[in-house]
Amino acid sequence: MRAGASFDFVIVGGGVAGLRAAIGLAPAGRVLVLTKAEPAESNTGYAQGGIAAAIGDDDSVRELIEWGARFDRAADGRPSLGREAAHSVRRVLHAGDATGREIGRVLWERVSALGAVETIDHALAAEIVVEDGRAAGVRYFDRGGAPQDVRAGATLLATGGAGQVFRDTTNPAVATGDGIALAFHAGARVADLEFVQFHPTALSRPGAPRFLISEALRGEGARLVNQSGEPFMTRYHPDGDLAPRDVVARSIVRESERTGGAVFLTLAHLDAAYVRGRFPTIAAMLKDLGLDLAVDRIPVGPAAHYMMGGVDTDVCGRTSIAGLFAAGEVACTGLHGANRLASNSLLEGLVFGARAAAAMQEPPRAAPMKEDRVMADGSGLMAEGTNGDHLPYAISHQPSAITNVRELMWRCAGLFRDRAGLEEAVAALDALADASHPATVDRARQRNLSTVARLIARAALRRTESRGGHYRLDYPARDDERWCVHVVETAL
Ligand SMILES: Cc1cc2nc3c(=O)[nH]c(=O)nc-3n(C[C@H](O)[C@H](O)[C@H](O)COP(=O)(O)OP(=O)(O)OC[C@H]3O[C@@H](n4cnc5c(N)ncnc54)[C@H](O)[C@@H]3O)c2cc1C
Repeated sequence: MRAGASFDFVIVGGGVAGLRAAIGLAPAGRVLVLTKAEPAESNTGYAQGGIAAAIGDDDSVRELIEWGARFDRAADGRPSLGREAAHSVRRVLHAGDATGREIGRVLWERVSALGAVETIDHALAAEIVVEDGRAAGVRYFDRGGAPQDVRAGATLLATGGAGQVFRDTTNPAVATGDGIALAFHAGARVADLEFVQFHPTALSRPGAPRFLISEALRGEGARLVNQSGEPFMTRYHPDGDLAPRDVVARSIVRESERTGGAVFLTLAHLDAAYVRGRFPTIAAMLKDLGLDLAVDRIPVGPAAHYMMGGVDTDVCGRTSIAGLFAAGEVACTGLHGANRLASNSLLEGLVFGARAAAAMQEPPRAAPMKEDRVMADGSGLMAEGTNGDHLPYAISHQPSAITNVRELMWRCAGLFRDRAGLEEAVAALDALADASHPATVDRARQRNLSTVARLIARAALRRTESRGGHYRLDYPARDDERWCVHVVETAL
């Protein structure tokens, strides 16, 4: 790729949202897709449980099936539907326990066959190029670390989630929230960043990765038990093991504190052959660690999993900057409220990837602010915000800076939050704030991560109530009178 190359459309990200958008854009012009690691390395590729859909004739999921996606079927040939927490009915299409890999396979196959779409991997987008108030493309670092500019009539951020902002996460290394940072530094509105979903059941074993143990297991009857083997969830919520994710995550920590021991998932009461056949990926992963999914108790605990907030968009993926779009986990459409339901984000990526592709072919215009949004600075909602009298937190701009930010966020802005911890995080991250143009890949990575962390911590400090994924020990109740709003921030 030459410096200053030009395309009709540039898409940052090759997960479900970016790829679906590329398919929609290909008939309209030349499309460039950038991915910062290997092409298939994305949250999409790791999705396990499935994709929620009411399967109608014109449904996006039907489109995916027509393109060749192989979802599991029952003996009568109809799709076999799973159930996950807080869902009232079985609605989750799945391909074993590796649904995202199957969806990614189908989309990549289709995109690879499109002559209009070019992809570059190991290309780290670092800035949105803004000219005369309009997005004009992106600046990225190529595989060799050299800066490159690519110009485009419309630019789509499809960079996925931000789980890596926290020490413990189910997300792969690429999920550092870059699109949120890029949009914010370009002057776009970002919203709802206090709403981070912590998944209750990531594998919790010293030295092992925080591998997700899908909620679909509990949908099939798996139980959470304490160290004495006693099921405990009904003591915390009437829906028991299938209570909403935030409730289960906090209950696991509380049960662990109460008993002084670990919490486990058990499937030992279910048919072993069925368990191994229904969840082959998870079973194989655990087998490598010496655990038998069908027999052994699996130690689990919460980990950062999904970002409900993101770049503020309208229902077509337009952001507040003309020519800049966002779709998938990086976007905040408002669809997931304060607490996403399982299996709705692959679907969101498909739907909003397609919608953004359609809008990107229209004359560019900025999305107006929605009526249910309020600005963070002008709303009078900052009463509990920073008071500016903190000592600077000593985090150096060395490679360890990223580790320090992740530790800080886990400790101060994680599952249980309070004012003191959040003030500590905000002060530390304010000291790292950096609006300069990143000159190297390392600087770009650090700037992205600390920007997103800072935005999350500030938003969490500001919201003095508990709602969905955001839980304040010092404000444990929901406060609809003051806080039934989406709070928006912008650098401008
Ligand atoms: C373990 C796990 C299990 C899950 N299970 C489910 C499930 O069962 N059902 C469900 O609906 N959802 C599930 N989710 C959530 C879902 O997978 C994601 O929300 C969804 O896949 C996000 O898709 P996306 O296209 O927005 O982003 P991603 O799939 O994350 O893709 C992001 C892309 O952006 C690229 N990128 C990022 N930053 C840059 C940059 N600076 N420059 C260039 N490229 C960049 C990455 O390389 C990648 O290609 C799960 C998530 C995880 C982590």
